[in-house]
Amino acid sequence: MKHFLLTLAVGLSLFATQTVNAAEKLKLLIVDGQNNHKWQVTSPILKQFLSDTGRFDVSVATSPPKKSPAEAWDNFDPEFSAYDVVLSNYNGEEWPMRVKTDLEQYVAGGGALVIVHAANNAFPNWPAWNQMIGLGWRNNKFGNRVILDEEGKKVVVPAGEGPGAGHGSQHDFAVRVRDTEHPVTKGMPAEWMHVKDELYHGQRGPAQSMNILATAYSDTDPKKRGTGAHEPMIWWIPYGKGRVFTTLLGHADYSMKCVGFQSVVARGSEWAATGEVTLPIPDKFPTAEKTSSVE
Ligand code: ZN
Repeated sequence: MKHFLLTLAVGLSLFATQTVNAAEKLKLLIVDGQNNHKWQVTSPILKQFLSDTGRFDVSVATSPPKKSPAEAWDNFDPEFSAYDVVLSNYNGEEWPMRVKTDLEQYVAGGGALVIVHAANNAFPNWPAWNQMIGLGWRNNKFGNRVILDEEGKKVVVPAGEGPGAGHGSQHDFAVRVRDTEHPVTKGMPAEWMHVKDELYHGQRGPAQSMNILATAYSDTDPKKRGTGAHEPMIWWIPYGKGRVFTTLLGHADYSMKCVGFQSVVARGSEWAATGEVTLPIPDKFPTAEKTSSVE
């Protein structure tokens, strides 16, 4: 199908310049339809800033709402393999086995998956999904917790010890880059202020082959109610021939309007799809002292 579409696009490009440009863009699919967050508000923000980079041709696959009859799901066929990268903004009911198998095969075969915020809350009973995300919103008995120490060394906290998934009060917080050579984070300030968000902590899972790109310090100040640990915020995991890129940032519209968040998601999506990053770090990127939001 992908080959056919490519051939079609190349064929059409002989007649329309616009199609030539479109063919150079990465095809990105946002999956949504259920979430305990306002996906109707956040999916358009994701679509807008990704499209505005000029690097992506963005489509959206929306699942049936909660408690739909089984027949409604028969028409839910996101066709992952037709895309260069799939971005999940979904946190809801289990998908049909057919869709889950499609996603597993797509990623294992060299596809790219991007997880934003509560998308990692989904599917606790789907082993391949847990493998792909590494850590998810689960209780402390579910699996390992991973934090980094001051120097950046991984500390694995076993199941049953320490906090399970949670977050304190929303606030602006510093994202600290832990891998300055990775294409996604290369060139970002060593620390940058992210706009008001939930700072997830105590995420749990198999946590295998996690490449952690950035953390955030979860402050124990009573106003912030954190864990006192450096919690992973951005990471990637290989799955078969594919790549899964996760960021825990992005609770609400205001969090997603952070220039840093948008840059992480756009560069992360490009990298997951191609292994390279061509999108520049925006001039208005936040600094260690100051947050930066788009209007
Ligand atoms: Zn949230």
